[in-house]
Amino acid sequence: MQPSTLELMQQMGHEQVAFCQDPHTGLNAIIAIHNTVLGPSLGGTRVWNYASHQDALVDALRLSRGMTYKSALAGLNLGGGKAVLIGDASKLKNEAYWRRYGRFVNSLNGKYITAEDVNTSKTDMEYIGMETKFVTGKPEYMGGSGDPSPLTSYGVYMGMKAAAKKAFGSDDLSGRKVLVQGAGNVGRYLMEYLVKDGAKVYTSDINESKVKEVLAMMPSIEVVDSDKIFDLEMDIYAPCALGATVNTETIGKMKCPVIAGGANNQLADENVHGPMLVEKGIIYVPDFLINAGGIINISIEIDGYNRERAYNTVSKIYDRALQIFDTAEREGTHTQLAAMQAAEKRLNDIAKVHTGL
Ligand code: NAD
Repeated sequence: MQPSTLELMQQMGHEQVAFCQDPHTGLNAIIAIHNTVLGPSLGGTRVWNYASHQDALVDALRLSRGMTYKSALAGLNLGGGKAVLIGDASKLKNEAYWRRYGRFVNSLNGKYITAEDVNTSKTDMEYIGMETKFVTGKPEYMGGSGDPSPLTSYGVYMGMKAAAKKAFGSDDLSGRKVLVQGAGNVGRYLMEYLVKDGAKVYTSDINESKVKEVLAMMPSIEVVDSDKIFDLEMDIYAPCALGATVNTETIGKMKCPVIAGGANNQLADENVHGPMLVEKGIIYVPDFLINAGGIINISIEIDGYNRERAYNTVSKIYDRALQIFDTAEREGTHTQLAAMQAAEKRLNDIAKVHTGL
């Protein structure tokens, strides 16, 4: 028998899960609020055609917990939340759908603040914003912070430089061979930094048009077949496409001392592959540390957006990564675990501050 919603919430430590269905607009929504110790929960809204309602629920629970850790480690006063909307985005999305969803978000009185995610856009955020103020990622002309990808890529670049310092004794990336897997939003902006720094950049994407776009802008980049990327000897592997690309098979093939990329959930199983990377001497920058630029950018939108402040705050990913490498080394553990423990420590410390106990 499948565990009930409450049992899943107990297992993963969630505070609240809210459901909403509306036959007029076809809205079937789940908002998962994992933890609000540091502040209101914030996380994107994902529209996905899930195989079952249980799959959608588990995704919302897993993603919202991930947001708690990401914001806690980034030093933000935000908790973890996420919304999943069940169904085919191309058939469902229209003004009424988003405004109905906006009212659902509003009914939580600010305990959950939403943003863009898979299959949602700035325009969708505008519609949501007609019904609630608890929405971020609005277009720049509305006082929002716009597309978070440039800031995410900048954070990945800073985390990569920190890893280079640790691995090679210098954070100068000129001449370094870097493979960027995924030439989408995050990958492309990251490649711009790398090319500017004089790195030797390789890329691979299953979508040819993405590769063409990148080559038109940066002709020095070399393209590698998706199934040959781990045959390459490189200095840095930057996963910027899907999750779980760091697994038993790929670690076995990898010929690189550093993994530093923007994708979410890079380790197929953190308990297995975190230690495996340590054994192989590969420096891994935890995904939720290095790709926090987007959420940091959004947190600044809440206070009143200032781009310079956003870049400044994201640049701190460099020092944070160095601290996590040191902690992991000192405690004889892997970097993903060290990062999770640092996030948990901040949550516990601030919970005590709030309760005075
Ligand atoms: P995107 O969809 O713009 O780009 C992803 C690219 O990866 C696409 O071009 C796709 O064709 C390619 N791809 C898919 N499978 C591939 C494969 N097997 N091999 C090579 N390429 C493949 O997405 P994005 O916004 O650039 O996000 C990339 C990753 O970063 C995702 O994991 C996302 O969750 C994560 N992330 C993004 C942000 C952000 O601000 N955009 C923030 C945090 C985390």
